[in-house]
Amino acid sequence: MAEETIFSKIIRKEIPADILYQDDLVTAFRDITPRAPSHILIIPNKLIPTINDVEESDELALGRLFTVARKLAEQENIAEDGYRLIVNCNSHGGQEVYHVHMHLLGGKPLGPLLMD
Ligand code: AMP
Repeated sequence: MAEETIFSKIIRKEIPADILYQDDLVTAFRDITPRAPSHILIIPNKLIPTINDVEESDELALGRLFTVARKLAEQENIAEDGYRLIVNCNSHGGQEVYHVHMHLLGGKPLGPLLMD
């Protein structure tokens, strides 16, 4: 059984977060340390620690991350200019919180993707 992170507490509303969207499968909230004018995290409600743990039965929830990203990008008025979706995995990927999450970043030109 994977260990819960702070994100499980956010899903259950046990700690405060700026939740923008929640349904039976996913939750979206503003990142506490925004790296862009719009920086939102979209996460499956089910605890999946990393992308390495993804199973075929998770496909509905993981697909939902993208439709919610699309809706939130429209809501944030960043859809037309564009935005970036990032999912980090494990230490080399820069993952800090071990509950799969998609970063939605936009509101300014983000420049080239960092490769180092
Ligand atoms: P990652 O490095 O991909 O694991 O990203 C984790 C993200 O979670 C970072 O951008 C953090 O700023 C963000 N974060 C950590 N704790 C919270 C929290 N309590 N509320 C909102 N965002 C958080």
